[in-house]
Amino acid sequence: MSDDLSRLTSSAYSQALEVIAAVEPRIAEATRAELADQRGSLKLIASENYASLAVLLTMGTWFSDKYAEGTVGHRFYAGCQNVDTVESLAAEHARELFGAEYAYVQPHSGIDANLVAFWSILAHRVESPALEKLGAKNVNDLSGADWESLRAELGNQRLLGMSLDAGGHLTHGFRPNISGKMFHQQQYGTDPVTGLLDYDVVAAKAREFKPLILVAGYSAYPRRVNFATMREIADEVGATLLVDMAHFSGLVAGKVFTGDEDPVPHAHVVTSTTHKSLRGPRGGIVLATEEYAPSVDRGCPMVLGGPLSHVMAAKAVAFAEARQPAFQTYAQQVADNAQSLAEGFKRRGATLVTDGTDNHLVLLDVSGYGLTGRQAESALLDAGIVTNRNSVPGDTNGAWYTSGVRLGTPALTTRGFGHDEFETVAELIVTVLQNTEAGTTKAGGPSKASYVLGEGVADKVKDASAEMLEKHPLYPGLDLA
Ligand SMILES: *Cc1c(COP(=O)(O)O)cnc(C)c1O
Repeated sequence: MSDDLSRLTSSAYSQALEVIAAVEPRIAEATRAELADQRGSLKLIASENYASLAVLLTMGTWFSDKYAEGTVGHRFYAGCQNVDTVESLAAEHARELFGAEYAYVQPHSGIDANLVAFWSILAHRVESPALEKLGAKNVNDLSGADWESLRAELGNQRLLGMSLDAGGHLTHGFRPNISGKMFHQQQYGTDPVTGLLDYDVVAAKAREFKPLILVAGYSAYPRRVNFATMREIADEVGATLLVDMAHFSGLVAGKVFTGDEDPVPHAHVVTSTTHKSLRGPRGGIVLATEEYAPSVDRGCPMVLGGPLSHVMAAKAVAFAEARQPAFQTYAQQVADNAQSLAEGFKRRGATLVTDGTDNHLVLLDVSGYGLTGRQAESALLDAGIVTNRNSVPGDTNGAWYTSGVRLGTPALTTRGFGHDEFETVAELIVTVLQNTEAGTTKAGGPSKASYVLGEGVADKVKDASAEMLEKHPLYPGLDLA
C-alpha cells in the first residue's frame, strides 16, 4: 500500500469507528480490541485467514440493505440492477478462477453451500426421471400426488462421506447434523496404520452401499485427494460426486492442486467457503457442471432467502484478487510453509497424523506429551498461539477433549511468514507442550481439561513470537488513531 493510501485507509477506519462509537461505544471498543488481538497472536487456525482491506471495506456498504431474492435478471424485488452487476461479476470471476461451467455465489456460508448442493442434487436426480415418466416439463407441473411419491424417494436417499474423526466435516453425514438426518448415511475413514485415504476401501463401501451422493473433501485431513479416482468410484456406482473444497479452495485457485487434485474438472458439483484459504469474505459458493446448473440455480428459494449482496460484492473483489499471479505465489507458499512446519515438528520428535502433510494443514497428535487436545489448545493460547483441538483417527478422548491439535498456514502466510518463521513456530509449540503437564480434578483424579504450564514459558514464547509478528505486521499501514 502506498503511504497516501495507508493514510486514507487509517483515517477511514478511525472515523468509521467514531461513527459506531457514537451509537454503541462498546462495539467500537471490541472491534479495536479484535484487531489488536489478531495482530498480537500467532494465528494457526487452519480455517482462518486475513482478508484484504479491499474485501473488508466492500462488506461495509448499503448493499447490505437491499433485498434481491431470485437470480440475476429474475428478482422477486424491484430495483436490483446494481445487485445484478455485483452477482454477475462475482459469478464470472468464480467461473474464470476455477474453470467452472457454472458458479452460484449466493450461499451465506459453507454449510449453506452444502445444503444448496444436496437439495440441488436430489432435485436433479429425482425430478428428472420423474418428470420424464410423467411427461411433465417443469417441476411446477407436478401434482400433489407426484410430490408425495417424490418425497418418499427423496427421503430414502443415501450419502457416503468421510467420517468426522478421519477429517471429514459435520455436513458430510454426521448424525447430529441435518445431513445425517436427511440422508441414510455411511462413512469412509482412513487407513488405521498410515492414516491415509484408501481408495479401494472407499470403492468397496460405495459398491456395497450404492450412495446417490459420494462426498469428497475434508476439514482436518492433512493430505491431497485424487478426485479423478473419486469420480471413477462415483461413476461405477451411479453416484453424483460432490466435492466440498471449503478448506483447500485457495490451493485450487492458486494452482497448487492441479490435474487429478483439482476437483473442478472431476466433480459434478463443488462447494466451498470463501473465507478460509481462499481469503475472501465469510461466505459460500457452489460450482457445477451445465447438467446440474439449473437445479443449483434454484438455491433461492429452495434453501436460501435473500442473498447477502454486500458479501457477494466482497466475493467478487476477493476472486479478482485470487486471479492475480500474486495469489499463486501465496498459495504455493502456504503449502511450502506447511512442509516447513511439519518438518520442524518431526525433527523435534512430534507425532503427526499421516506422518506429514502435503496441503495447508498439520494434525499434531499430542497424546505423546501426556495431554489431551483441549489441554494443549489452552496452554498454547496462554502463550499467544491460537489453534484448535481436533480429533485424531480412532481418538479415545472423544470429540470434546480430543487428542490432537490442528494447525494451518494460510493466515500467517498472508502476514508474510516463510520457512524460517514456521521453523520457529514448530519450536515454540513443542516448547509449550513439553512444558505443560496434565492437571488433576477437584477430587484429585486425572483431568482432561486442567493443565499446568511451566513458569515463565508463556512469556518466553510470547517474546519470541512478538519479534516475528512485528517483522510481519498485519495490515501494515493501518494505524488506528
Ligand atoms: C468450514 C467447512 C464448512 C462450513 O463452513 P461454514 O462457513 O462454517 O458454514 C463446510 N465444509 C467443510 C469441509 C468445511 O471445512
